[in-house]
Amino acid sequence: MLNDCIRIGLETNATSLKTLSLKAYKQLKGYEVPSCYKLCAISRATGILRNYRRAKRKGKVKEPYAKRLQLISCYGLKIKDGVLLLPFKSKQPIQIPLNQHTQQILSNMTVRSVTLTADHLSIAYAKEVAEIQLKGLIGIDRNLDNLTLANSSGRVERFNLANITEIKSKYRAVKARFTRNDVRVRKRIFGKYGVKERNKVQHILHNVSKHIIEDAKVNQLGIVRENLKGIRKLYRRGNGQGRFYRGRMNSWSLHELQQQIEYKAKWEGLPVIYVKPHGTTSKCSICGHRLSEENRTMKCQNCGLTIDRDVNAARNILALGLRFRPVAQPLEAMVAELQPERNPQSRWL
Ligand SMILES: [Zn+2]
Repeated sequence: MLNDCIRIGLETNATSLKTLSLKAYKQLKGYEVPSCYKLCAISRATGILRNYRRAKRKGKVKEPYAKRLQLISCYGLKIKDGVLLLPFKSKQPIQIPLNQHTQQILSNMTVRSVTLTADHLSIAYAKEVAEIQLKGLIGIDRNLDNLTLANSSGRVERFNLANITEIKSKYRAVKARFTRNDVRVRKRIFGKYGVKERNKVQHILHNVSKHIIEDAKVNQLGIVRENLKGIRKLYRRGNGQGRFYRGRMNSWSLHELQQQIEYKAKWEGLPVIYVKPHGTTSKCSICGHRLSEENRTMKCQNCGLTIDRDVNAARNILALGLRFRPVAQPLEAMVAELQPERNPQSRWL
């Protein structure tokens, strides 16, 4: 049914859910299933087609075809006495018993949709979240080897993520050693190592993001992050950088951490603010003057500040976030920034 929807979508060039439903729904008459599954198949096909069109704009891709069997439903779901009921024939629902743990989690949530495949069942659930009254913000600066946090009460915290860089470089070296020419074999082996690598990295990142969100929740802090869109463009072939350097910089798992922090923050009702990263590293977090760098320590010629590079960046990000969303008492850096004490003579010396 899903593949029929995809075919109809490609033939009629339907892009929106509404157009595809109007065009495909009647053609799905032959399927003897409750109409809710037809609607879900159309909705899923719209998503697949959207991704296909986006990929097509970037390069050559194959036409989509869904191979895995799956049953998706977001209508007519019920949980009764620890059994999940999916619509099937009238008064004869499909019954799936849920274990104690799942029942407990779902007890005060709204079940939104269910996906059933040959070997697993995924349940998407939602809850109403009231946005927390903020007392301050946390600025987060992500670097290749660490994550630095600065919050508006002046506390600085750092997570060492060098082991992620190490895991990534190890797997890169292992994968580079394969010289199989058969693309099918290579794909399978690379896929296996990819999963292993991802699991290891995600485990570390989950620990970090959990810690950040717990801390933010207790102290009622919003989260400020850099908008790093387009950063991969900086490390492309032809930019005059070495192959190994590019590999290292592109192994930076910033998107994964961003996603984790964002969804965990939303779940707790904490806002996430994105700011432009421009100048956050190179400007002084006290006076805004340009800094000179020496061994990851930044020095300000103007106000005499000597500060760690990452702490300075985290503070700058925090200050940018406070400008967006002023909460509580302004930070020391902000006060100084509002009334810069410039010494005009020092410029001429
Ligand atoms: Zn300064």
